[in-house]
Amino acid sequence: MPIVVQKYGGSSVADIGKLRQVADQVARTRAAGDDVVVVVSAMGKTTDNLLGLARQAALPPDATVESGSAAPEPAKRELDMLLSTGERVSMSLLSIAMHARGLDAVSFTGSQSGIITNDRHFDARIIEVRPHRIEDELARGRIVIVAGYQGMSYKREITTLGRGGSDTTAVALAAALGAERCEIYSDVDGVYSADPRVIADARHLPELDYETMQEMAECGAKVLNAQAVEWARRHKVAIIARKTGDVAGRPGVRETVVSEVASADASRRAVVVQKSVAWLTAEARALSRLLAAAERLSLPLGDLTVGPRELMAWTPLINVPNWGEVRTELSGASLAGLSIREGHGLLSLVGVEVGTRSDVVRAALACLDAPPELVFSHPLRLSCVLPDANLDAAARAWHERLGPGAAAAASRLTA
Ligand code: ADP
Ligand code: ASP
Ligand code: MG
Repeated sequence: MPIVVQKYGGSSVADIGKLRQVADQVARTRAAGDDVVVVVSAMGKTTDNLLGLARQAALPPDATVESGSAAPEPAKRELDMLLSTGERVSMSLLSIAMHARGLDAVSFTGSQSGIITNDRHFDARIIEVRPHRIEDELARGRIVIVAGYQGMSYKREITTLGRGGSDTTAVALAAALGAERCEIYSDVDGVYSADPRVIADARHLPELDYETMQEMAECGAKVLNAQAVEWARRHKVAIIARKTGDVAGRPGVRETVVSEVASADASRRAVVVQKSVAWLTAEARALSRLLAAAERLSLPLGDLTVGPRELMAWTPLINVPNWGEVRTELSGASLAGLSIREGHGLLSLVGVEVGTRSDVVRAALACLDAPPELVFSHPLRLSCVLPDANLDAAARAWHERLGPGAAAAASRLTA
């Protein structure tokens, strides 16, 4: 039987009512004759709430929760032990709900599913997947429910895969099991040309190539996780992004298929915002020390640029739960001329040639209220670093003047 991997995100299992609806949807897929592996995220805001508890537990003995005094940050190993429990709750509840529907289901943690990672706690990378137990259970006719976002390192430690990492679990399992398709269900009916919650007239994108989607995900479009898209591209797994509860093929139901479609479509453009980014600058001679510190601290460096005198880079803070400590270590690492600025974010235009066409770059800069702090251009992306407060308005301006609608109109004029 063809294997289908379905992933349901936190909002899809936010409470028992929603989780039971997911159980009905899984039961329908099973009834259609497919072998089903389901990957679940933690319920609703569970991961954030657990992180909040960890920060409270980390307060010094004489501090009160209310005083909110600066505390040492919780150890990342312990955070992984804690956060991985969120997905265990939803996997077992969903399995119980499947039993209530007369279906044979079994739930597995990431380590039971054979997801082996490196040992970078909080933001681990999957090294290999050995899904033998899943294959055995599918052969017995069971539905397998897997806790997303987690694995086990070679040192047999529990790890988590970075925020939004359940998508990666789903794609990696789909590849390892040779699944026919990987369906990612969330609260949106696919990928849009901007976050539809911020830009109301964002356009639905029914088809996307891996490269464009990966670029979008890397610079902050959280609808699909960047590692998941990278894994899908490498292993040629088609991702189908849908809204939970939607029945594929029904009139009016939309989806986005991310696969190896041709990428030379000028109107396939998106505007992406990434908030909570730190921006680093230093003298160019600090490069080797900065790289060594970034490696030691597991700090990702985006768009690292080194000129004759200065170097610069940005780092997303979403997967740096110990930013306070990291910041202190960077400041103490003797990096000549180091300056660290927070309260900034990244605004990106993603699409074919957007960063190499001077007319696009000129138009993008012209519609910003103030000159950006930094500008980076790549063949598939143009990015600016801006203060957080200006990001959403700038994103709206870019989407209106340079988004897919504007690009399609421009190509009609030149045709
Ligand atoms: P889940 O918890 O199911 O994994 P996420 O919250 O991670 O879901 O992702 C879905 C959210 O992604 C949507 O609610 C939407 O606000 C946001 N989003 C950001 N950029 C986009 C985009 N370009 N297209 C669609 N959704 C987007
Ligand atoms: N629960 C994790 C998070 O909130 C993983 C996920 O949702 O994919 O980041
Ligand atoms: Mg997500």
